Amino acid sequence: MEKRIAVLPGDGVGKEVTRGAVSILEAAGELFGHKFHFSYGAIGGEAIDDHGTPLPEHTLNLCKTSDAVLLGAVGGPKWDRLPGHIRPEKGLLKIRKELGLYANVRPVQYYSSISGVSPLRKDVVEGVDMVVVRELTGGLYFGKPSERTFQKGEAAAVDTLFYQKKEIERVIRYAFELASTRKGKVTSVDKANVLESSRMWRETAEEVAKEYPGVQLEHMLVDNAAMQLIKNPRQFDVLVTENMFGDILSDEASVLTGSLGMLPSASVSEEGPYLYEPIHGSAPDIAGMDAANPIAMILSAAMMLRMSFGLYAEAEAIENAVKQVLDAGSRTRDIALFGSGTVSTSAMIEEIKAALLDNEAIYNIMGAYA
Ligand code: NAD
Repeated sequence: MEKRIAVLPGDGVGKEVTRGAVSILEAAGELFGHKFHFSYGAIGGEAIDDHGTPLPEHTLNLCKTSDAVLLGAVGGPKWDRLPGHIRPEKGLLKIRKELGLYANVRPVQYYSSISGVSPLRKDVVEGVDMVVVRELTGGLYFGKPSERTFQKGEAAAVDTLFYQKKEIERVIRYAFELASTRKGKVTSVDKANVLESSRMWRETAEEVAKEYPGVQLEHMLVDNAAMQLIKNPRQFDVLVTENMFGDILSDEASVLTGSLGMLPSASVSEEGPYLYEPIHGSAPDIAGMDAANPIAMILSAAMMLRMSFGLYAEAEAIENAVKQVLDAGSRTRDIALFGSGTVSTSAMIEEIKAALLDNEAIYNIMGAYA
């Protein structure tokens, strides 16, 4: 198989972890006989410095003509004081809109070997296996007006939470499709006791549910969902919610696994290429220190192989290599227990690559798919 992959490393640790994902993909390609062509584009703060905009036209064109997009992370203190329309994060919002990436899919999985890093007790997090599906191109982050204003002579500001019904239906249908391949339960999270947009969200979820008799639908208010995620996370299978609620709840869900550095994501569209990125940001506090955890990015690359290219065995080989390295006790700083040794980003990447190249494990997996 030959595939073209657009690589947008971005800023801070984005660059460090993206290097890791590319080298793991190259190794997987060699092992399984695929050719991945990587083309690089600028996004975020680096793109502002070099091109005066957080998402240059040529980066966008590169993404649109690729089979999938790998993105590191954007942002950093250097660009924090820029006006809203040329901040690095604008590049992210624009690429989501331009590629029609309507749902962000964030699996949250428990790894027994690092359960000690989670701030929650082992008996609470043990066995967690859920997916947060976040609506990505509507809601407060895109609604207009979104501006500073004056009212009665006082400074004021407004943001708008706007959804078209078809946008809600699309993401909810995605969640139902996903749940029907998993444990068969969708938790739709809203604030229907207060917000009109949430009442439409809830009605739409009820309508879509009628098409999926094998999938159970439950509604949960967002404040309760924030509590239930910590209290009893095992109750969730697929959690679907609007843009801002999803942004917040999926970061909260990351603590179940112990670190932001462990959580991958995929953003899906109706027609164009999908985009894969870790859920963490550019981590300016550790950027350039070779200390970031590359696993979220490497697992995002595995999601790409499975979801965009249908390469199931290859994806599983990478996921197994990650698990093997964690089981053997290797830890970057964010997932190390107090007093235990740590490895650098580069060392973690090399260990995962070595585990991936462990032929016996590969043949076992290939056998399972034969
Ligand atoms: P962050 O995710 O960058 O960092 C939060 C904390 O998690 C930090 O302590 C950081 O060191 C740690 N962390 C994050 N990724 C890690 C990794 N791979 N390994 C180990 N530790 C890791 O969030 P923030 O500090 O709120 O934001 C920093 C910048 O990133 C801001 O400019 C923000 O706008 C941007 N950001 C970008 C994205 C994105 O590109 N998708 C997402 C979130 C934040």
